[in-house]
Amino acid sequence: MELVALALGLFIVAMLVLQVPVMVYTTLQRSRAMQAQRRLEYKEWQLRLRAAETQLDRAESNTLSWSGWRKFEVRKKVVENKSGDICSFYFYPHDRRKLPAFEPGQFLMFRLDIPDPDDPGETIEETRCYSLSDSPNPRYYRISVRKVPSPPKQPDLPPGLVSGFLHDHINEGDLIDVQAPSGEFFLDPDQESPVALLAGGVGVTPILSMCNTLIDRKSSREVWIFFGVRHADDLVMLPNFEFAAGHLKNAHVYICFSGDMPKGIEDGTIADSGIIYKKGRVDSAMLKATMPGNNYGYYICGPEMMMKTLDKDLQAWGVPKARINWEAFGESAAPAPAALPSGQTLTITYGASGGKSVSWQGEKSIRAAAKANKFREKKVKYACGQGKCGCCHTALKSGEVAYNDVQPAFADLQDGYCLPCIATPKTSIELDA
Ligand SMILES: Cc1cc2nc3c(=O)[nH]c(=O)nc-3n(C[C@H](O)[C@H](O)[C@H](O)COP(=O)(O)OP(=O)(O)OC[C@H]3O[C@@H](n4cnc5c(N)ncnc54)[C@H](O)[C@@H]3O)c2cc1C
Repeated sequence: MELVALALGLFIVAMLVLQVPVMVYTTLQRSRAMQAQRRLEYKEWQLRLRAAETQLDRAESNTLSWSGWRKFEVRKKVVENKSGDICSFYFYPHDRRKLPAFEPGQFLMFRLDIPDPDDPGETIEETRCYSLSDSPNPRYYRISVRKVPSPPKQPDLPPGLVSGFLHDHINEGDLIDVQAPSGEFFLDPDQESPVALLAGGVGVTPILSMCNTLIDRKSSREVWIFFGVRHADDLVMLPNFEFAAGHLKNAHVYICFSGDMPKGIEDGTIADSGIIYKKGRVDSAMLKATMPGNNYGYYICGPEMMMKTLDKDLQAWGVPKARINWEAFGESAAPAPAALPSGQTLTITYGASGGKSVSWQGEKSIRAAAKANKFREKKVKYACGQGKCGCCHTALKSGEVAYNDVQPAFADLQDGYCLPCIATPKTSIELDA
């Protein structure tokens, strides 16, 4: 009897002893689950707060924005690379009012009066777009401009007019007319989805703005940054990329040299900053060899060939077209025109310029035909070269034009008008220009 009682007692004690770790374990599990729940709630709360802040910023931007031209003063001009062909300009509003925020990736439109290379003593009014190259701040805007040389295969052609003028003649203290930030190529910094930011040459400008905005926001988003240059002399704003590699929690930063690697650096060298140096172009082979998969939103800006190839190859890799975003820096992205039936000639007549006519030689656009005939921007205004900004919006007095692969994105295209930067003549035409 005693033995039974002892065994029962021991059994009860054993059960009680066993229950302690079970209770401890359950309590720990519960507390872990509660912590995870609280972390999730905190993250959700942070996201909501950030979204509310962005809404507020956007509402404030709308009130701070302006229409038409506003005077800005160049307060700082900085040469950004060893080649000396990329220069940053810091623009402060002349009226000293606060600036509206912008979306990282957007651009500014500039208007300048430039000595007319074809008409000594005269000036021409030029407009051009330049991407904002820094994250938004209320005090200044920064752009970084490449001085465009004559095309390598046509050295007799004049070099880039506006980029050359900005580099050689615009200095600290000068005032310039600027329109408010615009553009559809931008990264939504409130999203958490993983992204790949791919830049080539001066196409790095909108990508830098995206990268710096993620840094400002201490983003923990997964981001892969690839910046392609020919050689070390073309490299710009390395400290920005070093900072991104060191401070963005989940960033992978690659600098790729299509030409010679800098001294002391080999393919695959990992710098103290965390940047990885690669030999080769930023192309799909490079991405496949380095990224864990293709499931990213892609933001691409660089030379036309790089973007076209990446666009095609990324789709072939299974990336949906909707996830590939790119910005072209000029009219070179316009489609090739349809071939003319043999023997047919089309003329473009500039009705408001004494009826001067040129025959269309199959140039990429009406504006390209004007340029080829040295009938410069005085007559056919131009800025984005992609039918977006509306700078070239011109009345068509007679005839018909065609839009090929690039359709007008300018919302205010009126009946009886055309966008010469992307249109080609379908019949002989007369422009009110
Ligand atoms: C949205 C957007 C953002 C941009 N952002 C940037 C940026 O951040 N940084 C930047 O540097 N650029 C940027 N650009 C490009 C910029 O707007 C200009 O197109 C660039 O600076 C060249 O302008 P330009 O006046 O210097 O050259 P242009 O005078 O327009 O000449 C362009 C080229 O045509 C050649 N040319 C001259 N005459 C002829 C002729 N008769 N026939 C054929 N070719 C000729 C020139 O030699 C030159 O190579 C951006 C463009 C867009 C659309």
